[in-house]
Amino acid sequence: MSTVLVNCTVVDAERDAPLADAAVWTRDGVIAAVGRADDVLSIARGDGEPKIVDLGGAHLLPGLINMHTHLSDPSRETGRETPVDFAVRMTGHARRTVEGGVTTVRLVAEPYGADFALRRAVRAGEVVGPRIFTAGRALVCTGGHGFAGAGTVEADGVDGFRQATRAQLREGADLIKLMISGGIAGEHEGIDTPQLKPDELHAVTEVAHDWGRKVTAHAGPARAIAEALDCGLDCVEHGYQLTDDVIQTMADRGTTFVPTIIVTRCEQYYRDVGAPEWMIERALGAAAVHWRALESAIRHGVPIAVGTDMLPAEPQDDTTATVVELEHYAAAGLAPRRVLAAATTVPAAWLGESARLGTVAEGKLADLIAVDGDPTQDIATLRRLRFVMADGKIVHAKRVAA
Ligand SMILES: [Zn+2]
Repeated sequence: MSTVLVNCTVVDAERDAPLADAAVWTRDGVIAAVGRADDVLSIARGDGEPKIVDLGGAHLLPGLINMHTHLSDPSRETGRETPVDFAVRMTGHARRTVEGGVTTVRLVAEPYGADFALRRAVRAGEVVGPRIFTAGRALVCTGGHGFAGAGTVEADGVDGFRQATRAQLREGADLIKLMISGGIAGEHEGIDTPQLKPDELHAVTEVAHDWGRKVTAHAGPARAIAEALDCGLDCVEHGYQLTDDVIQTMADRGTTFVPTIIVTRCEQYYRDVGAPEWMIERALGAAAVHWRALESAIRHGVPIAVGTDMLPAEPQDDTTATVVELEHYAAAGLAPRRVLAAATTVPAAWLGESARLGTVAEGKLADLIAVDGDPTQDIATLRRLRFVMADGKIVHAKRVAA
């Protein structure tokens, strides 16, 4: 399939200046040319008769990458849902994810292997959905964070964690997800409860790294995070209670931070999903310290990648959770181009996919979105989504609110 996107301005996090009066040629799911419209059109026409799509003066940028989501949410855990119920729900969420401009997701705890089935189905073109990188089930200690959910597996000790890591790799995990501390959603624990021992952490990172996979962790307290960094952790999720000295360590090592800042600032969401009062209090009670951690990480130059811990296209503030999360980064002091990087180049680098994802350049995969306005000036322009191409195919773009 050969398509030329015309009448657009190309922007991405690595481009020095917007490329106006541009066109982008995509062929068989790959960007074949980017440049001035006349040049690109003549190259493309030399190859055959491409489909021409007029973007009406919009800004064209890479598809967004959400690094912390669970497509099986919201989990009702009624006991009556079968694995098939989860899989069917995930299929619908996958479609809405791309329609909302998120063309790649990193899944960090999903049940029943439904994530692997979904990844296969998207790749095969059976289901419309984002490019999927998944951790399979998250590893927790006995009684650890999220132990009761179907998206986690309990392990203990060095042998137990090695086995659990290998079991995820056997299923096809692209990365490993750990819970190293308590969190918002566990009544029996605190956000600051440390849950893994260094030998257990080492067991996971050694096995994962031997197999060429990275490890990320749900993490609250600074001390547990510092310990995990020493044990080879590659990425920090949430970081509710990060302190300046641990943030400095992350900056020195280039450890990526996925703040999911929205989870400590979304009271209405918790009420809508029927969260208990103690959980809402705990989430909102962590908001001030969490926000300071985000501001500090920005000041220290820690690589920040966007994650929402809710569905990427979850309606929030008349747009999607992904866009709101990015607007929070801007409000916390992240420069517009770095905000765009948090949803494109930083995730692509962490996933080891910089050669294929993250910018609008020849040879990259044709995951592209168009918005009205320049997101390198104002990230709120992402609210005005008008076009989505995923893997070279045009997807009907849907805004949460007009
Ligand atoms: Zn999560």
